[in-house]
Amino acid sequence: SIRPPESKQATTLQVAVRCRPLSAKEKLKTRDILRVVDGKVVVVLDPDLSKEYLDRVQNRSKEKKYAFDVAFGPESTNEDVYNATVSSMVEGVVRGLNATIFAYGATGSGKTHTMAGTIEDPGLMVLSLQAIFALITKQESEYEFEVTASYLEVYNEVIYDLLESSSGHLELREDPDQGITVAGLKRIQVCSAEKILELLTQGNSRRKTESTDANATSSRSHAVMEIIVKRRPRNQYRPHIVKGKLALVDLAGSERASETNNAGQKLRDGANINRSLLALSNCINALGKQQKKGLAYVPYRNSKLTRLLKDGLSGNSRTVMVATVCSGADQYHHTTNTLKYADRAK
Ligand code: ADP
Ligand code: MG
Repeated sequence: SIRPPESKQATTLQVAVRCRPLSAKEKLKTRDILRVVDGKVVVVLDPDLSKEYLDRVQNRSKEKKYAFDVAFGPESTNEDVYNATVSSMVEGVVRGLNATIFAYGATGSGKTHTMAGTIEDPGLMVLSLQAIFALITKQESEYEFEVTASYLEVYNEVIYDLLESSSGHLELREDPDQGITVAGLKRIQVCSAEKILELLTQGNSRRKTESTDANATSSRSHAVMEIIVKRRPRNQYRPHIVKGKLALVDLAGSERASETNNAGQKLRDGANINRSLLALSNCINALGKQQKKGLAYVPYRNSKLTRLLKDGLSGNSRTVMVATVCSGADQYHHTTNTLKYADRAK
């Protein structure tokens, strides 16, 4: 649930769940076990029970139910997700507030589809930029704007630039004026939302992927797109410039390293991914507590990812977590893990 705007110092956290549909090919191998009710509740069927059995006994006690701020069924589009989550945050970013959106879920559950999307169904990264430009156009007589974007990945606790074809290791800096920055990270001026999908696709092709037993294209890195909007009044003697940051994060697959049958280098990857994901989940839990019970300590310093995202997860920032799940019975284990995780974050 979102706090009213008068709570100035507390970060608000909204938890959304999105169920992706099975493809025609997947339908031949497995069946649907998820249902979304009232736009808030995800119902999970026990995959061991046949549909016929459930229909016959009309016994719904074998279902598990999880409630969230908002839940999206398999027919939902990226635009639906955008409208119910990010759209209300964009206006704040243009006024100088920070916001963070991240997609959490197992490999293949729809994180990249939700965040980057496709030409036919652009994702939250593209839709957010479109909305920012629409707002800017309305305010252009009063203010001058500059919109820049960067795209990086955190892999094995090392930061790489996804906008450069051969990026070296980049370091985090904590600057008293700028906040947290990444030294040497490419930042491009964006003039329209259309160009960004091309850059995202290029950037995504540079992400470190490694085949694992869990999934041949399992993505083991966290990808972070950061949009910075600077606004400067046109007719002020000493213009007061505000800077808003919007971070959009496509997290690495949340399946646990212990579940993938890895060794050596890959195991180290897994451990580090868990470190960033674990640190993030600790921060998210703390933010959830803060929202319910007042100020709580949020441990940002424990990983690269949480240090990087700190500005957008603290102060009067707003955060949305979109937990993604696949509706197939064969994903039952991952799905319940993700739903339990998202449930704890509320
Ligand atoms: P992840 O990034 O979590 O590993 P992807 O976003 O790559 O997963 O999604 C896995 C597959 O499922 C892709 O082929 C993608 O196009 C498809 N997919 C994901 N979400 C949806 C959706 N909401 N509707 C239709 N297809 C989807
Ligand atoms: Mg992906």
